[in-house]
Amino acid sequence: MTLTDHERQMVALVAEFVDERVRPRVREFEADDVYPAEFIEEMKKLGFFGLLAPAEYGGVDVSTACFARVTEELARGWMSLAGAIGGHSVITYLIKTFGTAEQREKYLPRMAEGAIRATMALTEPGGGSDLQAMRTQAVPDGDGYSVTGSKTWISNAAHSGLIGLLCITDRDASPRHRGMSMLLVEPGDGLTISKKLPKLGYRGVEACEIVFDDRRVGVDAVLGGTPGQGWAQMMRGLEVGRVQVAARALGVGQAALNDAVRYAQERETFGKPIWRHQSVGNLLADMATKMSAARLLTLDAAERLDSGERADMEAGMAKLFASETAMQVALDAIRIHGGYGYSKEYDVERYFRDAPLMIVGEGTNEIQRNVIASQLIARNRI
Ligand SMILES: Cc1cc2nc3c(=O)[nH]c(=O)nc-3n(C[C@H](O)[C@H](O)[C@H](O)COP(=O)(O)OP(=O)(O)OC[C@H]3O[C@@H](n4cnc5c(N)ncnc54)[C@H](O)[C@@H]3O)c2cc1C
Repeated sequence: MTLTDHERQMVALVAEFVDERVRPRVREFEADDVYPAEFIEEMKKLGFFGLLAPAEYGGVDVSTACFARVTEELARGWMSLAGAIGGHSVITYLIKTFGTAEQREKYLPRMAEGAIRATMALTEPGGGSDLQAMRTQAVPDGDGYSVTGSKTWISNAAHSGLIGLLCITDRDASPRHRGMSMLLVEPGDGLTISKKLPKLGYRGVEACEIVFDDRRVGVDAVLGGTPGQGWAQMMRGLEVGRVQVAARALGVGQAALNDAVRYAQERETFGKPIWRHQSVGNLLADMATKMSAARLLTLDAAERLDSGERADMEAGMAKLFASETAMQVALDAIRIHGGYGYSKEYDVERYFRDAPLMIVGEGTNEIQRNVIASQLIARNRI
């Protein structure tokens, strides 16, 4: 992976922010489950909300590989902060790639500075995996659309000024996905965002239900201006999203590995540091090896995405492997900490609560396997 000097400086800046500002205070924010407004404001100033926005719109405009490294560093401090830029960055990518000139002009400058934060609304109460069965629809009405339906588990929804909404605009289309569009919807009349859904980890950042009840939008809300393109647009966006989730998993896994390596040298039993017991040393060796493999897969997917080629298989592999690795590494870090691993005094219990989100979010790992298998066959058809 080759990052430019500017990109390397960006990653170093994030690492410094994480080590000096985030890690010393994360337990306090996490325990209270409070929205980390202070960190978010600092992240805006540091340009983290503009990572994928073009420079002409005030963005930092880094490669996907750099975006992944920045995400990893943020998640090494606190996964919730990496989550806070996740959906926002996917919608930035979609507007930059598919948006009309007016949409880019209208949203990208303010999104780049974090003045508008965007969220991505796909999942419905009836299901997240079977997206084509979605029910939220935008019915043509006058010179725009009337949107009705509901979405759930939408991250950052309460703090969003823009919702990237995947919905049905043509009920009769066949195949069904040709009747789907991405709408850029701003909060307002006919749109209700529920209170935060309680959850295991990923604290501080809210996940909410959004209800649309005759929410009116103009035809200019359709991403790219032509209805029926939403499914294809979102599938490309999910490639970015899955690299981002893989990178979040890397951050959580790396933090767990770092803590385990430190503790295994400090803690002594039977007259020696525990890492010298072969079982513990082997655990550490396997954790480090899997983390390196996960990082290479993630950077490979990022580079493929930047090359312009279809990257769903690579992003799926990265997300699948990195998230399962993070979960295993978090568990093994608890194992190495013994009873203290189960205590709130150490961070490893948080990694263990945060890791499962990356297994489920942005398409479950079962869905990733389906994507990988179908691409594998498509690329190797006999
Ligand atoms: C904290 C949090 C934040 C989230 N943020 C967002 C967000 O910002 N935006 C958004 O749109 N969504 C968000 N989600 C939703 C997430 O993407 C979905 O939960 C996920 O896609 C799974 O959908 P589901 O929960 O409806 O599970 P289901 O689709 O009901 O799946 C249930 C189980 O069945 C399995 N399964 C289903 N179909 C298949 C199949 N064909 N083959 C094999 N196995 C299958 C699944 O893998 C899973 O194990 C978030 C979720 C959480 C928990």
